[in-house]
Amino acid sequence: MSTPIKIKCTVSSIDAHSDSVFTVRLKPARRLPRFKPGQFLHLAIDSYDPTGGYWPESRVFSIASAPFDSEITIAYAVKGKFTLRMKEELEVGKDVWVKLPYGHFVISYAPDGEVVLVAGGTGITPFIPFLLNETNNPSGEKISLVYGVRRSDLLIFGDVIVDALANLNGFSLYAFCEERANSDSQFSAEQGGLTIDAILRATTDPTKAVFYLSGPVEMINTFKDGLKDTEVSETKIHIDEWE
Ligand SMILES: Cc1cc2nc3c(=O)[nH]c(=O)nc-3n(C[C@H](O)[C@H](O)[C@H](O)COP(=O)(O)OP(=O)(O)OC[C@H]3O[C@@H](n4cnc5c(N)ncnc54)[C@H](O)[C@@H]3O)c2cc1C
Repeated sequence: MSTPIKIKCTVSSIDAHSDSVFTVRLKPARRLPRFKPGQFLHLAIDSYDPTGGYWPESRVFSIASAPFDSEITIAYAVKGKFTLRMKEELEVGKDVWVKLPYGHFVISYAPDGEVVLVAGGTGITPFIPFLLNETNNPSGEKISLVYGVRRSDLLIFGDVIVDALANLNGFSLYAFCEERANSDSQFSAEQGGLTIDAILRATTDPTKAVFYLSGPVEMINTFKDGLKDTEVSETKIHIDEWE
């Protein structure tokens, strides 16, 4: 893994998906270190003095851009004090600081089995670099994305998912939306919440699959227990647990 470095970045774009979910693109002042799909960064809004200052208050966000991209994408939901500051203070042209890469939630192909990516809401973010980075899937093993959101406007990164559906060998999407999906959605979503049954239906044999779970803590714990009850080995369940 690369040693984390601190980099000043300028906000280059902000997309509002709702009044509390945003995608932000950051243009780094220097070349980004190598990172792996699934890793995260620390983002600080206040300025940092690289000649020896303290690292300011920060929060962690999964990197949602490809390792080959010259900019970085993150997506966040307003949850508390810090993310509210992000909503109020981030604007195009503003400088922020990031340090990266961090984390052991690294998404890769399973050598002899299928991969199941389970995302709750903005928990989709760590899976996006994997989908962007994989232009083929030589062994053709099944890769399933089981993605649940509350409202259809929160089905973010639709372009990346539609592209993967068209081009990534073995890739399937199982999308769920608690409220009725809008007709302008880029892909259809079944009405309802994510369930352990939906996750199991996405596999051909759950005991041979590798599962990556990303999203709120309660979701992770529920599905981790559900998978273990279905005889899935704990070594095949990887989690990216958010506070
Ligand atoms: C591996 C990982 C990846 C994540 N990726 C994303 C992502 O891609 N998108 C996303 O929206 N969220 C992500 N999160 C969650 C995100 O980091 C925030 O915790 C979440 O947005 C909470 O909102 P907040 O920081 O505004 O809440 P706040 O109320 O400001 O703080 C939430 C928690 O942060 C801690 N905290 C409070 N004050 C401080 C402080 N001064 N310094 C440091 N910590 C403090 C406390 O544990 C507090 O309970 C991720 C979390 C993890 C662990």
